[in-house]
Amino acid sequence: MKHALPVTREADFAAWYQSVITEADLAEESGVRGCMVIRPWGYGIWERIQRLLDDRIKATGHENCYFPLFIPLSYFEKEAEHVEGFAKEMAVVTHHRLVSDGKGGLTPDPTAKLEEPLVVRPTSETVIGTAFSRWVQSWRDLPVLINQWANVVRWEMRTRMFLRTSEFLWQEGHTAHATADEAREETLRMLEVYREFSETCLAVHVLTGEKPENERFPGAVATYSIEAMMQDGKALQAGTSHFLGTNFAHAQNIRFQNAAGELEFANTTSWGVSTRMVGAVIMVHGDDDGLRVPPAIAPWQVVIVPMLRDQPEDAAIVDYCRSLQKDLAGLTALGEPVRALLDLKPAKAATKRWGWVKKGAPVVIEVGGRDVAGGNVSVILRTDLYQDGGKLKSTVMPRGELIDTLAQALEDAQSGLLTQSTEALRARVTPVDDWAGVEAHFAEGVKNPGWVDVRWAKPTGAALDHVVERLKSLKLTIRNAPMGQTHSDSGPCVFTGEPAVERVLIGRAY
Ligand code: AMP
Repeated sequence: MKHALPVTREADFAAWYQSVITEADLAEESGVRGCMVIRPWGYGIWERIQRLLDDRIKATGHENCYFPLFIPLSYFEKEAEHVEGFAKEMAVVTHHRLVSDGKGGLTPDPTAKLEEPLVVRPTSETVIGTAFSRWVQSWRDLPVLINQWANVVRWEMRTRMFLRTSEFLWQEGHTAHATADEAREETLRMLEVYREFSETCLAVHVLTGEKPENERFPGAVATYSIEAMMQDGKALQAGTSHFLGTNFAHAQNIRFQNAAGELEFANTTSWGVSTRMVGAVIMVHGDDDGLRVPPAIAPWQVVIVPMLRDQPEDAAIVDYCRSLQKDLAGLTALGEPVRALLDLKPAKAATKRWGWVKKGAPVVIEVGGRDVAGGNVSVILRTDLYQDGGKLKSTVMPRGELIDTLAQALEDAQSGLLTQSTEALRARVTPVDDWAGVEAHFAEGVKNPGWVDVRWAKPTGAALDHVVERLKSLKLTIRNAPMGQTHSDSGPCVFTGEPAVERVLIGRAY
């Protein structure tokens, strides 16, 4: 069977991913390595993600604000682990003026050197913590619950569009609390917000859990993640929530007078998700015909394509489509007005149809002269594209029937994608009892091994380094220790044979 993309997932998953991005007009290279141009369809998806997640961030009591792009280098130097973690990927501004180099070019003006280098923010704990130290004096000022939507720069050496870029868009939440318990509670609350958002809006099933010590955010006491499984069985860390303890409060001097009048350091948290989520949506829901966008985050949920022929009856077709668009926009699906586009671009109807299939619009409605005459529409569902035998499935139905069933169709498409993603993840997590089992599971030539779920004794320090090295030889990493484990399931650690304390997920990752 022939598909709309030049390459299938089976043939070459990496090339397929890239072709979805190109063919669905999501993003393109920019001329700066690792930085991408996000095109309207890709940005529209990001805007939907922003809106739906922003609602949840506000509903949990946070307010948005904005901090500067440039952070004085000295702010970083105050937290040793933090600066060490980010030093190798920070972009730095050192001059504020250019002068002619005498050869027709420009060069930084040596007389315009900044007194202190400015880092282009890779994350904002340091600058936001500095503000917190001004805002927080007494226990009455706590908690501080803020979030910002911004771009950040991390000079990544190996980049891939959306998944890992040198500049990316994200939200970063930052909070300060009177007690460690409260801050831990906040860390887990936002992890749960990410899980619920990912499943409800992105239709991406994720597993929440704590990252091992070696994967912690630099400067954090504990890091939690949501991990999603891509169709090739690799893991993607789709979001993180960090309990920072008093580490940043010490570095940035965030202190408050408690009710008894004593000075205490605040406990802080931070949490973020990024444009990486668009990459997750592609790798979880895409197929050999392109992207399939879950209706909740589709910029357009329904696209009406009139079949025009440069004939006088075209006008009647366009009128019919306009009134159809109006009726559709009056419907409610997934708790919001339906987003319906009438595509009047001057292109062949078949080109437009396949363009929208590749972009992954959930529903494409084609309207030709015969449909108008019969009061019908021809409906293509992106999640049910082919008939048995491989022909495109386009269902002719009365216009009234479409209006009556569309909201349900969108809701079914949304829940169907989540079911697929849940089943795909569950089918590919395998419990394994010993190291030999891990090696066999990930032996060379095994296709799509997914993840294994093993017991471990949670080693630290050098013992953990040793485990990390062993895993590295199989290109594996520990993803997380899933939440909500009961400790009834005891047995030996797969690495050391000692009594295990918990289970962890191990897999290859993006
Ligand atoms: P962090 O501040 O390191 O915990 O990052 C927060 C989240 O941003 C991560 O969980 C990723 O989902 C995402 N992220 C981190 N680095 C990148 C990158 N280079 N490109 C895109 N997303 C990223």
